Amino acid sequence: MNDSAPPPDRRTIVATMRDYVEQLVEEGLEGLPGTERAASLRKEAAIETARASASAVREPARATPRLFSQYPGLEKTADLRELREFIGDCRRCKLAPGRTNLVFGVGDPRAELMFVGEGPGADEDAQGEPFVGRAGQLLTDIIERGMKMKRSDVYICNVVKCRPPGNRNPEPDEVAACEPFLMRQIELVRPKVIVGLGTFAVQSLLKVKTPISKLRGAWHEFQGVKLMPTFHPAYLLRNPADKRLVWADVQEVMKALGRPIPKKDGPA
Ligand code: URA
Repeated sequence: MNDSAPPPDRRTIVATMRDYVEQLVEEGLEGLPGTERAASLRKEAAIETARASASAVREPARATPRLFSQYPGLEKTADLRELREFIGDCRRCKLAPGRTNLVFGVGDPRAELMFVGEGPGADEDAQGEPFVGRAGQLLTDIIERGMKMKRSDVYICNVVKCRPPGNRNPEPDEVAACEPFLMRQIELVRPKVIVGLGTFAVQSLLKVKTPISKLRGAWHEFQGVKLMPTFHPAYLLRNPADKRLVWADVQEVMKALGRPIPKKDGPA
């Protein structure tokens, strides 16, 4: 243990616990002992987080190391089609045997705006396209009804390209195996703005442990591209009241893209 490291403050602990419980629910946990107490703690955490958000010191993005040496020839892929070919029938990590389809990415290969999620779920695995399930429908609503853009005008992909069994979080070796492909996707698309969807995706990109509730709402930098972290649409399905926070993040994105902010009071 590092004795010189300052202990995390209460807000960070509360926000981290809140995110952890959200993740457990996302992974299928239907209840916790002492649910009422947990609910009141969650409410308290939400209030704390909202209070903290105005004054929180945001963690800076760290430089991401160049990872292409892991897969010689990757840097020579000239476009997304070549990159997809390079990845091929990937067997580079332990997610391969359980997948139905490798979910590479979809959208405009020259998109100004790129969304990065965590990894495919069951619907995405079955169809081979990211964000096509319930959470995906909400993301499409955010893009089309909220931002007044077409889903086909943006680029959508995930940190890992294959579905983790039981929708568990991808493990570090799985993220590491897929990371060079995401880096190359970003290099080839060269978006003006990346929107990171949810705790896992944003923490994987920025290499931080800060909860999404603290990271969202402020600009970060990833590989020279502006990155806006926001809540995952699956989280919004369970916490619709937080759509207004995502809408605030989306408005910042629209400003950065030099696009008009639609008058609509929310994404969906
Ligand atoms: N959640 C994700 O993070 N990605 C998808 O593609 C679908 C659900």
